[in-house]
Amino acid sequence: MAGKPKTKTRKRYYDDDDSDDDETGTSLSKFLKAVDDIRAFHGKLTYLKLEEVTFYLTVILGQENVNFLLYLIKYHVPRSFPNRSHYVRNIYQATVQQGDTDTDRLDSFIQCLLKHEENIDVDPCDYAGKLWKAATKLKDSCMKFYLPNITECQKCHCKTLYSSTKSVTNITVYTLQGPIPCKKAALVCRKCNTYHSLTGYKIGKEKRLFKLKQSHNLIYGSNKVYITRRLHEFVCESR
Ligand SMILES: [Zn+2]
Repeated sequence: MAGKPKTKTRKRYYDDDDSDDDETGTSLSKFLKAVDDIRAFHGKLTYLKLEEVTFYLTVILGQENVNFLLYLIKYHVPRSFPNRSHYVRNIYQATVQQGDTDTDRLDSFIQCLLKHEENIDVDPCDYAGKLWKAATKLKDSCMKFYLPNITECQKCHCKTLYSSTKSVTNITVYTLQGPIPCKKAALVCRKCNTYHSLTGYKIGKEKRLFKLKQSHNLIYGSNKVYITRRLHEFVCESR
């Protein structure tokens, strides 16, 4: 590499650069070219199988980052949550070094992974450290995302629920480990317009609470404050 000026800017792995003349660079270039060949063979990224996409992303982003991205999609931001891919992208970007991924490219990766969501296989690790980092950097409540834990309207039993963008609210959930900044959204029935909040729903003027198994184990404190059942039991039993 003699004679080449050193630069602090990190070279993007996906930029194939034939000027690499050291052994590692040449191997990496060949490897990336092979990956690009796979992509070219299949046309666009969106036509690749999940295994191929995961392999490709691992080369570009690194295994740890790919696992975190898969985790955000599979476990962290619920499928019906409004602006879901926006949250996935922002949280991911807040945890990686700046310049590692540009927004457009990352969005296309996320859209591609969302198509394969059913088959994503990733361990539900504890990513609290990364999530706190993202929440702090973004100044946003993103430690957990809550939707009502139901799959059908509690009034008419149809499955035409949609998440209401207007209902997205920052909440604080008090746990045994302390308060956690989270988000919640409501689910509304397209057929009968029943509004399902995190802990219950209304039929006429009558408020009904969800059954225990549907409750996320959260106890309502106010519209923006919830308490986990474990903390509630601990405090009550300690008296
Ligand atoms: Zn309904």
